[in-house]
Amino acid sequence: MTDIAENLAQVQQRITAACNRAGRSHEEVQLVAVGKKFTAEVIREAADCGLTLFGENRVQEAKAKIPDCPGHLRWHFIGNLQTNKCRDAIMLFDMLHAVDSLPLAEELNKRCNHAAKVMPILLEVNVSGEGSKHGFTPESAVESVEAFPNFPQLELHGLMTMAPFSRQPENSRPYFQKLREVKSTCEDKLGAPLPELSMGMSGDFEVAIEEGATLIRLGTTLFGTRAQANKD
Ligand SMILES: *Cc1c(COP(=O)(O)O)cnc(C)c1O
Repeated sequence: MTDIAENLAQVQQRITAACNRAGRSHEEVQLVAVGKKFTAEVIREAADCGLTLFGENRVQEAKAKIPDCPGHLRWHFIGNLQTNKCRDAIMLFDMLHAVDSLPLAEELNKRCNHAAKVMPILLEVNVSGEGSKHGFTPESAVESVEAFPNFPQLELHGLMTMAPFSRQPENSRPYFQKLREVKSTCEDKLGAPLPELSMGMSGDFEVAIEEGATLIRLGTTLFGTRAQANKD
């Protein structure tokens, strides 16, 4: 088995175990394979292992890479988007995880309208309040969902967050719990369900699953450390 196949088998077991602990079914959790900084060749290898959903965080990198990858793959944009990249992003991606302001939503809506596309999106919430992180405050996320009827080309599917870096997965739990609470408050405000919670990375995805994640974004644990990605 290649490394990716081996890593994936282990990840799938860990997802199943976390789902079992939480009384959830494995089908409720989608794995987004984050191949940023890895080549199209690595992505093709991952696709051969059965992975179909991939995440990228740079539009330029994705634009160069996606045409060299199998056509059946689905691509999610997990990075923060600058307004001048919106046009490319809506052509390349099937979902945008980190919409972090209403002006960005407005620009995306306009671009999608021109392209006759409807784009599923998630709002990024800065649950920890760290200055280095993008996203809505929990309060502004709740207020902002009311603006979404103004953006008919955008489908609001849920919320996304990143927990502060820590070596202890348990340290992420309060942030994931908080995101779930914010989602519930948003649903009350909208009067409609928001199906997706994008939370959990290589270091904390099991805790995220226990707290209700429906999309986990895994790079390192599948592909190895990115510092090594450019070596060969
Ligand atoms: C890089 C990245 C990930 C994956 O991180 P790993 O720790 O390598 O699993 C997940 N989410 C976002 C937003 C990222 O930029």
